Amino acid sequence: MEEILPNIFTFQVELPQSPLKAINLYVIKDKERIVLFDTGFNRPECQDQLLEHLSYLGQPLEDYELVLTHMHSDHTGLTQLFAEKGCPIYTSKIDGDIVNAMAEGSYWDMMLGFRDLYGMEDEEITIEDNPGYRYRLRETFNFQILTPGDTFDIGDYHFTILDLKGHTPGHIGFYEAEKGFILSGDTVLDPMTPNITYWGENEPNILQSYITTLAQLKTLNLKLMLATHRKPIDAPNERIDELIAHHQERLQEIIDVMKKDQEYSVRDVAKQISWRIKANHWDDFPKGQKWFAAGETLAHLDYLYHHGFIQRTEQAGTFIFRNPHQRIDIPLPVGY
Ligand SMILES: [Zn+2]
Repeated sequence: MEEILPNIFTFQVELPQSPLKAINLYVIKDKERIVLFDTGFNRPECQDQLLEHLSYLGQPLEDYELVLTHMHSDHTGLTQLFAEKGCPIYTSKIDGDIVNAMAEGSYWDMMLGFRDLYGMEDEEITIEDNPGYRYRLRETFNFQILTPGDTFDIGDYHFTILDLKGHTPGHIGFYEAEKGFILSGDTVLDPMTPNITYWGENEPNILQSYITTLAQLKTLNLKLMLATHRKPIDAPNERIDELIAHHQERLQEIIDVMKKDQEYSVRDVAKQISWRIKANHWDDFPKGQKWFAAGETLAHLDYLYHHGFIQRTEQAGTFIFRNPHQRIDIPLPVGY
């Protein structure tokens, strides 16, 4: 437990077998309120660590308020601990509804539909391979909606809720303008890059939304970002530039593997591009990671499609992409 800023405490909860390694949780307290940001996966190891850390702060669980920065299971899995004590729980309408759709099941039907769009076989990846499914919250919960522009005060901290759409559709951040920092969840990480994935046709070109979010964050000239994995970010604009460059390189790599006028499924492209996963070949990928890799590949293909670089059709429920050009240089992302 570290007091990273006055009355802002942080600690790590390990995420076993996950490349994320751990999640950084934050607690902000004053005389009236004690607020926890995010929870860890719904698995006993995470619950034990969370409760042990919170016990050092000496306040019973029912005194807490819980904030969820976004819907991923490593952030929301243990929400039930607080819901059953009657604690107020806050999140965005979009991501709160997704967490409840994950608990009651309809979200996973959508993911199985994506498997077909990716051009994957049923046996190649299953829902049970997805850590977000295995360690999800099992019951729906009631929440209070935080809307971008709302204020959220805890003691001397006066936060404005920001829309950080990109890593998830309803990701929110807590911006402290006077003190120049933000609780930014998974939006900017260092040294890893946040997963940007495909969310269906209701959320077209979410990579562009993410890039727009990064561009808006850059204008704030933040001094510090309190990130939920790995280390706090003390040079936010440098890191934002690195993330933009990463996606530009990724877009270039994808279009470079697509030979003129050949047909490619998401799976075909994902197999050919480089991954920082400990596997030499697509077939050796841990199955859980194939979900993320395919989703990330499609998010980039979707960007290229929406900006007119490549063409897309759907054949028997699978997206087929085609690059009509011999060679093309991808410019710096739009909005940058
Ligand atoms: Zn996340």
